[in-house]
Order: sequence, then C-alpha cells, then structure tokens
Amino acid sequence: MDTIKSVNEMQQFVIEARASGKTIAFVPTMGFLHQGHVSLLEEGRKRGDILVLSIFVNPTQFGQGEDFEDYPRDLQQDSQFAKAAGVDIIFAPDASAMYPIGYATYVDVDGITSNLCGASRPGHFRGVCTVVSKLFNIVQPHTAIFGAKDFQQLAVIKRMIADMNMPIDIVGMPIFREDDGLAMSSRNVYLSDDHRKQALVLSQSLNLGRELIAAGKTDAASIVSQLTDNIKMQPDADIDYIQICHQLSLEDQVTIDADSVLLLAVRFGSTRLIDNGFLREA
Ligand code: AMP
Repeated sequence: MDTIKSVNEMQQFVIEARASGKTIAFVPTMGFLHQGHVSLLEEGRKRGDILVLSIFVNPTQFGQGEDFEDYPRDLQQDSQFAKAAGVDIIFAPDASAMYPIGYATYVDVDGITSNLCGASRPGHFRGVCTVVSKLFNIVQPHTAIFGAKDFQQLAVIKRMIADMNMPIDIVGMPIFREDDGLAMSSRNVYLSDDHRKQALVLSQSLNLGRELIAAGKTDAASIVSQLTDNIKMQPDADIDYIQICHQLSLEDQVTIDADSVLLLAVRFGSTRLIDNGFLREA
C-alpha cells in the first residue's frame, strides 16, 4: 500500500493503471476511519482491480463556526485500517494542493440540496460537490462507493454524476451501526459518555417511526410531532431537523408511502449527529 500526497502523482498513477486495463474503485472519506468506512472499502475491494481511498478533510464543505479545525485526524491509524481492508493507494493531499492560491471554480447542484442539511448548512453541498468532482478527476474511478449514512449526500452525488455525464458507477452502502444502534461516525468520539447514551434516541426514533406506521399511522406531520416529543425527552438534544422525505426528490412528504425516508439531525453539545432510514417496507 502506498500513500500519495501529490495530485500529479495520483493522476499519473491512474492514467497508467487505466492504460494497462485495470479498473479503479474509489472510496472518498475525511479519514478517522471506523467500521462504516471499512464496509465501503470491502465493497470497493470487490469492485475494482485497484482500490483507492482518499483522506481529505475538505475545508470548503465546512461553514463558519463548524468543526473543521477540530475534526478528528489520525493518518497513522487510518493507514492500519486501510491496509487491513486491502487498500492499494491512500490519496491524502494537503488543502493547498487541492485549493491553490487563485482557486475559483465550484460545483453547485440545485433542487435536492435546498432541503435538510442543505438548508441548515448553507454552502455545504457546494463544497462536497466541488471536492468530489475534483477527486473524480484526479482518481478517475470506474466505481465510487458512498454510505447511506449521508443519505442526502449520496442523492446529490448521483444527481451530479447524471447531470454532468460523469462515467462513474455510484454504489451506496447501508449504514453501519454500533451494537446498540448508534450510526458509526468519526464525530462520535466527541460525545461525552452521557451524550453518547442520549444519542441512542436517533436510532430509537427510526424504530419508533416504523412502529407508528405499523400501527396504522400515515400522516407524516403527526409522526414527526411524536418523534419530536420523544427526542426532546433527552435533556441535551437540540433538534436541527426531523423530516420525512421522498427518497429521490428529498422533498417533504405529507403521507407515508414506500418511498418515505425519515431523516434526523440532532446536536448534543457541539456535536451534530445525523441518521436516517426507510419507514415502510416496499
Ligand atoms: P466521512 O469520512 O464521514 O465523510 O464519510 C466518508 C464516507 O463514509 C461517506 O460516503 C459516508 O456516507 C460513509 N460513512 C460514514 N459513516 C458511515 C456508516 N456508519 N455506515 C456506512 N457508511 C458510512
């Protein structure tokens, strides 16, 4: 396994690999890897001759006052995870290599970026789409693997790929959870023991939502209202959003159907957690 920091070197490597007929699978991350990332890498290992992992804490997707500076980083530990998962190349550029002085080009996806995290984190998806486009141009993958943990991000990337005719197969992988249900996230390390316990209310809310629907409820607003009351029972839960949306348009729904996804963003102290899940079996 090699680690490449230079954009040119990374590009040169994939140009040669492609010329020799090799396929490239790619998993973009911000590092501080956990088992959720590993599940993406394992899928990538199956889907390409060469598996590239990028580790880049992308400044343009963090808003003012967000946790860019404090985002956890540990390249040494990440390298161990990556090696065990069969990664061939870690691409870990510096911010100055990705955004040199004079950098001026950004990628904006309209529509599905206006709701949910797009509404509460202005500019976030512009940063995501910009960096993912750049990474795709540098790594030139045949296949790229993303997690459904970031449900809106996955939908936005699929939209961008289709709209920009990028010849890349996008694979979505299920949310990888701790045994008690908490969705794995690099940010979980910020949680105090008490907040870690309170945070279980996210995955419990997905189950409660499903129970309400199994009991016959179909009205999204009343389900959201019950879930809001339930989450507010945790003393430090600060709700960013609780929404039920159509899985493709990500527009809010009035009535539950097989396309309904419950999406949650809740802060505990300064840590913002997200989770999501389908509410009804098709
Ligand atoms: P991040 O490093 O948090 O930006 O995430 C990099 C990739 O890993 C994204 O495609 C995420 O959706 C995915 N990911 C993060 N956490 C999980 C998880 N618990 N289960 C599955 N995929 C995840």
